[in-house]
Amino acid sequence: MKITIIGAGAMGSLFGSLLAQSGQNVLLIDIWQDHIDTINSQGLGVESDGKINNIDIKASNNIQDGQGSDLVIIFVKSTQTQQAAADAQKCLNDKGKVLTLQNGMGNADIISQIINPEKVIAGTTSHGATILGPGLIRHAGIGPTLIGMWSNQGNTDLEDIQNIFNNAGIDTKIENNIHLIVWKKLIINVGINAITALTGIKNGKIVDHPPTGELVRAAVTEACDVALAHGVKLPDDIAEQVFTVAEATGPNRSSMGQDVDHQRPTEIDAINGAVVHLAKDKKIAVPVNKTLTALIKTMQDNYK
Ligand code: NAD
Repeated sequence: MKITIIGAGAMGSLFGSLLAQSGQNVLLIDIWQDHIDTINSQGLGVESDGKINNIDIKASNNIQDGQGSDLVIIFVKSTQTQQAAADAQKCLNDKGKVLTLQNGMGNADIISQIINPEKVIAGTTSHGATILGPGLIRHAGIGPTLIGMWSNQGNTDLEDIQNIFNNAGIDTKIENNIHLIVWKKLIINVGINAITALTGIKNGKIVDHPPTGELVRAAVTEACDVALAHGVKLPDDIAEQVFTVAEATGPNRSSMGQDVDHQRPTEIDAINGAVVHLAKDKKIAVPVNKTLTALIKTMQDNYK
């Protein structure tokens, strides 16, 4: 299968390396020239448990090289989804599909406005990765990957992709209700990301400190109300699930925390900002998410 990955940062490189090692024809596309050049000249280094594995994989900054792809995986940050979807459109062959495993809400909808919705697969992954430098990533965590068609067209052709992923060691399940899965992941990010980013704390600290916990609950409750208004009923214990994830990832800075620490644009519009956006047409008040979104935007618009 010809697989093109658009956005070959931490996660794109991780998935690309696993799929390439299992024998798939993988191309990494990125705009980061040093990263591309290092991968093409020295291979992609993947650090795991202190050991670095060097993977032979092709990388390019030219989207034309992805033409004729059976599968395009979009792994840019959500701020870049529109551009990546337009690029994906140029790569897909007639039967090709596009998959987003990005965080946040709205990516699959943006892609579906550009690419035939019957070709759009969405999902979540519990793998974790970090960029260490050009041509070098760390595989930081392993967990399930869940995929499903974003529009209600059934999931029958997803078995090929599921098999290819499972053969590559990416434990993958097909979900009929992928909207619920994406919402669940969104709620985790709604509860943890902006609050840790604004306060400089690590994930575990939201569990220990009652006023922080109350803020998390308030943001999550608002998001659940918005989900319900859009036809998605989240589990009653979803707030507890947020605290469980925060505890399990206690020593980590959230991805938004890391973005703010490094003065990079955040994915706020796809996380708390998406709750605000989706609340609007349902006329639901979401003051906590609105405030968190405005504070993160103030912060990122005033980076030095
Ligand atoms: P990243 O910043 O490491 O990688 C994004 C890459 O996209 C960068 O290398 C960047 O140069 C590239 N890029 C930007 N614009 C581009 C364009 N127009 N065309 C091609 N490439 C472009 O980000 P990441 O951590 O890999 O995260 C990617 C997505 O996956 C995000 O939505 C994130 O929330 C989600 N995610 C990340 C993790 C994780 O552990 N890192 C886990 C689950 C989900």
